[in-house]
Amino acid sequence: MAEDMATRSWKPESLMMSFGYRPELSEGALKCPIFQTSTFVFRSAEEGKAFFEVAYGLREQGPNEELGLIYSRLNNPDLEILERRLALWDGADDCGVFESGMAAISTVLLEFLRPGDLLAYSRPIYGGTHHFIHKVLPQFGVHTVGFRPSEPVDQVREEIEATGRADRLAMIYVETPANPTNELVDLAMITRLAREFSTGEHRVITACDNTYMGPMWQNPLKFGIDLNLYSATKYIGGHSDVIAGSVTGSAELLKRVKTLRTFLGNMAGPWTGWLLLRSLETLKVRTDQMAKNAGVVAEFLATHPKVEKVHYLGLLPEGSKQRALADRQCCSPGAMISFEVVGGEPGAFQFLNSLKLVKLAVSLGGTESLAEHPATMTHVDVDLAEREELGIAAGLVRLSVGVEAPEDLIWDLRQALDRVA
Ligand code: PLP
Repeated sequence: MAEDMATRSWKPESLMMSFGYRPELSEGALKCPIFQTSTFVFRSAEEGKAFFEVAYGLREQGPNEELGLIYSRLNNPDLEILERRLALWDGADDCGVFESGMAAISTVLLEFLRPGDLLAYSRPIYGGTHHFIHKVLPQFGVHTVGFRPSEPVDQVREEIEATGRADRLAMIYVETPANPTNELVDLAMITRLAREFSTGEHRVITACDNTYMGPMWQNPLKFGIDLNLYSATKYIGGHSDVIAGSVTGSAELLKRVKTLRTFLGNMAGPWTGWLLLRSLETLKVRTDQMAKNAGVVAEFLATHPKVEKVHYLGLLPEGSKQRALADRQCCSPGAMISFEVVGGEPGAFQFLNSLKLVKLAVSLGGTESLAEHPATMTHVDVDLAEREELGIAAGLVRLSVGVEAPEDLIWDLRQALDRVA
């Protein structure tokens, strides 16, 4: 039978210009307009009543019934279309979009953790998440235990059991590749471990911050992870001009996440939604170029005498466990590199201060290349002893590779490295 629009299995990049949008509902406009409105007019009181009944879970949605537009804290076309498109990338039932990556992360943690619960997490982890886990969650009576990405499963299990709270393990939260060292966590192992600690009445939720790879290079849901989180500020937004976050997963879990979002009021606004819709149209072409550039840049760095060590998935040694994991879990080595410059902090600073094309700024995943110093910037909140243990050395520089011509990037990196004493 011939394929048609509905039966063909389209690649996400082919659908990012149109999926979920109906021009006839917007005067035939080709592109989805910005629905810059706080509220929506009901055609009748009965319609308003019906929309609220579904939104507040007072009755089940009918088989062909769409949730009507009510109020932009609950729903808005820019957000709904964006959520459908992001869910498509991840092959997820549903998606929730937030006004920042931290809003997505903190909402997930608050929804699935209760006083007395235990959270197990991989470390190193993004600085903001580290702060939330160490400084905010303890105030709500949540206990935490960290484990290293490459620890064998038996050791992680022992560390969870050693807390004396294994029966209260509520969530395993991971970040892979880890920021900034690119160490990988075995997602299938995390899924198995969560099942081991789950019982009939108590399900351990798994969540992965997939910001470092983005939806094009890694899909944690395929490895059984329940919730996939992004700082959409990074690859998804991709132009360093918007802050946003998202979560994808099952309809059941997203319902809980979106309900809390409604009451925290930390959903993304229509303008943010529109910007991300626009960005998604070029996600594939942008990130293809970034990954290509990163490969060339990493090869260059690995041979430069002022560089002591390069952390990049494409350079993991053949035959190593981390290499096997990268081949299994990631579709590309990505575009994040970290490397140690000789001379510790002064060496790293000399390098960063000498860059001309690459900008000295935190953040990642944008069209321009950015470099920063994790030990004094993004990860300054981590104790010195822990930073050393995690490999966040004084000379470590994190580089997010953009879409520039690779020969220009190499020219800039070379001249900056040459200035390091
Ligand atoms: N997760 C990772 C890995 C990040 O790098 C960041 C930001 O740098 C965040 C989460 C937080 O995202 P946002 O800044 O959009 O709140």
